[in-house]
Amino acid sequence: MKATIALLLMTPAMLTAAKDPTLAPDLVIVDAAIHTMDPARPIVAGVAISGKLITAVGSAAEIRGLAGPGTRVIDAGNKLLLPGFNDAHVHWLMGGFSITNVNLRDAQSPAEFASRLAAHAKKVPKGQWILGGDWDHEKWPGTPLPTREMIDSVTPDNPVFVNRTDGHMALANGLALKLAGVTRDTKEVPGGLIVHDAKTGEPTGILKDAAMDLVDKAIPERSFEEKLAAARAATAHAASVGVTSVTDMSAGDDVGLYQWMLDRGELKTRIYAIRSIVTWEVLGKTGVRAAFGSDMLRIGGLKGFADGSLGSSTALFFEPYSDTPNTRGLLFEQMLPEGIMLKRTTAADKAGLQVMIHAIGDEANAQILDVYEKAAASNGARDRRFRIEHAQHLRAGDIARFGRQHVIASMQPYHEADDGRWCDKRIGPERAKGTYAFRSLLDSGARLAFGSDWTVAPLNPMEGIKAAVTRQTLDGKHPGGWVPEQKITVDEAVQAYTVGSAYAEFAEKVKGTITPGKLADVVLLDRDIYKGDPAEIDKTQVILTIVDGRVVYENGMVK
Ligand SMILES: [Zn+2]
Repeated sequence: MKATIALLLMTPAMLTAAKDPTLAPDLVIVDAAIHTMDPARPIVAGVAISGKLITAVGSAAEIRGLAGPGTRVIDAGNKLLLPGFNDAHVHWLMGGFSITNVNLRDAQSPAEFASRLAAHAKKVPKGQWILGGDWDHEKWPGTPLPTREMIDSVTPDNPVFVNRTDGHMALANGLALKLAGVTRDTKEVPGGLIVHDAKTGEPTGILKDAAMDLVDKAIPERSFEEKLAAARAATAHAASVGVTSVTDMSAGDDVGLYQWMLDRGELKTRIYAIRSIVTWEVLGKTGVRAAFGSDMLRIGGLKGFADGSLGSSTALFFEPYSDTPNTRGLLFEQMLPEGIMLKRTTAADKAGLQVMIHAIGDEANAQILDVYEKAAASNGARDRRFRIEHAQHLRAGDIARFGRQHVIASMQPYHEADDGRWCDKRIGPERAKGTYAFRSLLDSGARLAFGSDWTVAPLNPMEGIKAAVTRQTLDGKHPGGWVPEQKITVDEAVQAYTVGSAYAEFAEKVKGTITPGKLADVVLLDRDIYKGDPAEIDKTQVILTIVDGRVVYENGMVK
């Protein structure tokens, strides 16, 4: 550690002394286009890493000169090197399960649907539930709904409950129906439908909407082994897309699982593990404060909800939805009775914990800005870093409040590309001006932290950066950008995804930029997203990911 610090302070003349092999870095990357995100030295061509720290940056020659006989030298061929991406908003285990679950998304026929399930059933232990799937019968010739008959013979020992891609229906096999006690005599559920065979009257296995609860209730909590497999898949996937840190918005008690992995050297991603604000006292009583823990695993943040989502018309607006004038959306149950969110936020903030609250509609955002203003006023000045998650639709007058009140806008730009397809219809063009208002937020002095909301959106940061820079929509209907005045630059988007999200978790002093003394988290990309067509940014591939000084992904291989 002492040697490292000495190296940081060296003048060029002293660098010769670094030839002492005990001081030579473990790894140097040279001939790279390095955008450091550090305004003191924004662009360099080489970086040296010793142990888990960045020890020097400079020209390729300077950095090459530091290498000793034991130093690994990576010639980056002028490719782009950035600080590792920090995803400020993920649902980590759900993400992992989306990888370990059976994948039926691109099954092109009932036969392929059945054969994929058969193959998956061979890999999992007897008795384990087979879940997820995301099948889509609209892709199949004649669009027949799947039935339990198609899969019962290939899944005799595993209960199966696999959902359609929209989550509004799912197929159970015979064993799952049996465990759930669903028979031809089961009564219909209000708001749901049990599909029956027209000839025999037996349930086909398809349950729609509220009827899915019948089987959901019978599914046991995931075992430690299942969760571990999902968490391993998540951290491997993160390494492959250059994500080196995440804030897990729904970690809850899973922090114990992450610690188990950390102890065994299995964690390839730094995790800030958040729990629900409803249970804030669990942390409050221990005396733990925001961002407590190690560089790899930390706790002390609390997540709340103010409203629902735009897609389901439950995001809360001041004015009714343009296409459903009978509703303005709904407050989330955590906001009721009135005043409870302020009470919890004030108490949690007083205990030194960090509060981050989901708000989508403009009224939900205004209400949470009010909550934060009042909580800050009662507890007095402090570096508290309140966050609003999504900050999706904002009234013009509320945008400036983010900067003024020092509230971090934690946003997921990929949602813009997704929602932008139908948002105008929902809320009209006037309100759309304050939707995903990246430009206005930055201009008003707000801090942005970017993330994905994985699994709601892909984890790959390139998708989010492309969306923030181009404001294109997934349907290709806005090639020049939807609400284009809210576009930001590549550099601003990368900042929000690195140093911005580091700030949002009280970690900007140790990561987020490529600066001597900071943690060695970097990602090498196969194209320079600062140059060329921004619409192609999502085609970028990761060549190399380093976390904590350790190569965790290289040339297509997770290490
Ligand atoms: Zn989320």
